Amino acid sequence: MAKSGYLREIDRLGRVVIPKQYRKEMNIPEEGGEVLLTCKNGVVTVSKSAETCIFCRSRRKLGDFKGRPVCAKCLDEIRYGSAEEEETE
Ligand SMILES: [Zn+2]
Repeated sequence: MAKSGYLREIDRLGRVVIPKQYRKEMNIPEEGGEVLLTCKNGVVTVSKSAETCIFCRSRRKLGDFKGRPVCAKCLDEIRYGSAEEEETE
C-alpha cells in the first residue's frame, strides 16, 4: 500500500518543514506556535499542542481576543495598559 503525503528532506539540524496546507488545516500560526511531537511504533506524530496565550504562552485562564487565545492577565494589559510600562521621554 502506497503512503500518501508530502516527502520532505530533513536538514542538517534534524528539522522538517510542516507543509503549509497542513499548518493551515491545523490552524498553526506561521511563527511562534507550538506543536506536540510524539513517537510510537516508529511513527512520529505532530499534533497541535494545548492552546496557549499568543503573548506570554500561559495556559491559564485563556480568553479570546479577535479569535486568538489570550490569557486573562494579557487581556487586562490590552484593556487597561501595563502597570510596568515606562515613560520613554
Ligand atoms: Zn498572556
